[in-house]
Amino acid sequence: MKINALVAQDATQPLSTYQISLRPLQKQDVKIEILYCGVCHSDLHMARNEWGVSRYPLVPGHEIVGRVVETGAQASRFTVGDIVGVGVMVDSCRECHFCRQQEEQYCEAGFTATYNGIDKYTGESTWGGYAQNVIVDEDFVVSVPQHLPLAGVAPMLCAGVTVWSPLRHYNVKAGDRVGVVGLGGLGHMAVKLASALGAEVTLFTTSPEKGADARRLGATQVVVSRDGAQMAACRASLDLIIDCVAAPHDLDPYLAALKTNGRLVLVGIPDSPHLSPDITPMVFRRLSISGSSIGSIKETQEMLDFCGEKNITADIELIGGEAIETAYARMLKGDVRYRFVIDMQATRW
Ligand code: NAP
Ligand code: ZN
Ligand code: ZN
Repeated sequence: MKINALVAQDATQPLSTYQISLRPLQKQDVKIEILYCGVCHSDLHMARNEWGVSRYPLVPGHEIVGRVVETGAQASRFTVGDIVGVGVMVDSCRECHFCRQQEEQYCEAGFTATYNGIDKYTGESTWGGYAQNVIVDEDFVVSVPQHLPLAGVAPMLCAGVTVWSPLRHYNVKAGDRVGVVGLGGLGHMAVKLASALGAEVTLFTTSPEKGADARRLGATQVVVSRDGAQMAACRASLDLIIDCVAAPHDLDPYLAALKTNGRLVLVGIPDSPHLSPDITPMVFRRLSISGSSIGSIKETQEMLDFCGEKNITADIELIGGEAIETAYARMLKGDVRYRFVIDMQATRW
């Protein structure tokens, strides 16, 4: 089956419309008509081969919300018409320690990525959500709370769960003091979710003009990270910091902002390394630096259910697919309020 998709042919050409083929529907599969797909900074890193692992042609997109239009003979979790989501993973080995404990994002064989992965059935590339349809094993599909505005749900399938997972893993609770670095797609979800969990949120930003938005989204304190005096004023004040920045930067000022026993969780994946942090404060104040990869299917569903209860969605700017390069250019300048989402129905293919 052929469908329209936005395709990167190599690292330098702009994305443009081509036809791609989806795999035949397998017994456990659902076929989804894509309504909305968020634009993650990872899509830009991958379209332009900034991590050196891209294989072309490549169809980005792993923040997918759509409608089930067909189900395989043994697929039982969804029925035609259901509104569902697909995030960064479409399969995993299902046998390793991490898969068995429902942490497929750490599958020892490596999860199958929604795009630029290797499809288990065809042996060919997986295609992402900048497209009209996707076919996915039902175990990697989540239910979307139907009362939420669906375009704003799409970014939660990657940005939302990527910050939800460390907040939950490190048991952030009411009264904890949480820092968020960078008010982009991930960062704005981190502010919303951490404050909804009852944490007191400090946003670190390079864009002072985002301060009012940060407070509206739930931050109680905004710190301009390039202002040394403001950084010094929040020394040793935070329990946990989630760093959502897509570019290399100095980690030491964030370590300084942690209380003793505090933890800096890195979720941003810059295309070149951060400077090595100074380990002295880590030793003398028992600080930790961690990474965190997206979140499991279980955590994704938990996060969506939580957001359904609390009426939380992403703040988005809706675009047609033909505007993708403009969106990428603005993303590179940090000019995102706070996630671009492609409206697939409005896209001129
Ligand atoms: P984004 O929307 O572009 O946001 C990144 C934000 O970082 C910007 O809005 C900006 O916020 C700040 N920033 C950008 N350049 C900076 C610089 N040179 N110095 C300081 N701050 C800068 O990106 P995103 O989609 O949220 O993704 C963020 C990163 O997370 C990307 O590297 C992406 O690949 C990665 N990611 C990781 C996972 C995971 O599983 N760990 C999942 C998804 C994405 P301010 O204007 O507020 O400073
Ligand atoms: Zn992503
Ligand atoms: Zn596994």
